[in-house]
Amino acid sequence: MVLLLLIILAVLIWLLQAELESERQIEDVMEISCPACQRMIDIDAMVCPYCQLQLREACSTCHRGKLISHKHCPYCGSIQKRGK
Ligand SMILES: [Zn+2]
Ligand SMILES: [Zn+2]
Repeated sequence: MVLLLLIILAVLIWLLQAELESERQIEDVMEISCPACQRMIDIDAMVCPYCQLQLREACSTCHRGKLISHKHCPYCGSIQKRGK
């Protein structure tokens, strides 16, 4: 009887650890939902891998991948010129 309780306890602890582990993994991988197809994609993705929507473009000043919806580059603050 005591052995059974110990086994149940061990299983519970193992389940708890597995849950904590998976939560940590979710924190590590930052994801956003694509504005077009609503699927979860990597926050750094330049283009949605599912619908090919362009999410980021290279800043014309510092060449970092900034969100296409941002008027100002969040890295260097320069205003992005559209078109051309
Ligand atoms: Zn998409
Ligand atoms: Zn920039």
